[in-house]
Amino acid sequence: MKSYVAMCQCPVCGNDSGVAINRNLKDVFESSDRVPQLCSDCEKRINAGYCALIETIGTGKLAVRTGNIWFVKKEALLTTDKIMYIERNTAVEIGLYAKKNEQ
Ligand SMILES: [Zn+2]
Repeated sequence: MKSYVAMCQCPVCGNDSGVAINRNLKDVFESSDRVPQLCSDCEKRINAGYCALIETIGTGKLAVRTGNIWFVKKEALLTTDKIMYIERNTAVEIGLYAKKNEQ
């Protein structure tokens, strides 16, 4: 059954981030639809100049999120992207886990 409202979900952390409403009140959303919209916490960090680095196991279409997320200054990554993905083996190789433990 379609509806003119849908839940929003943060594409970074996966938390609920509000409700989307079709402005013309047309039933365009499926009940399972989740509209991607940053939550306030992730939006604050990204607006402060950080890129969300989302860890996965595997790459491409087979990539599965592990639940680990790092926020890294965009200048350090030489990117303007707000969201990037990193494969677990690479996260280990470049020392993301070591840094996390030191803090
Ligand atoms: Zn979030």
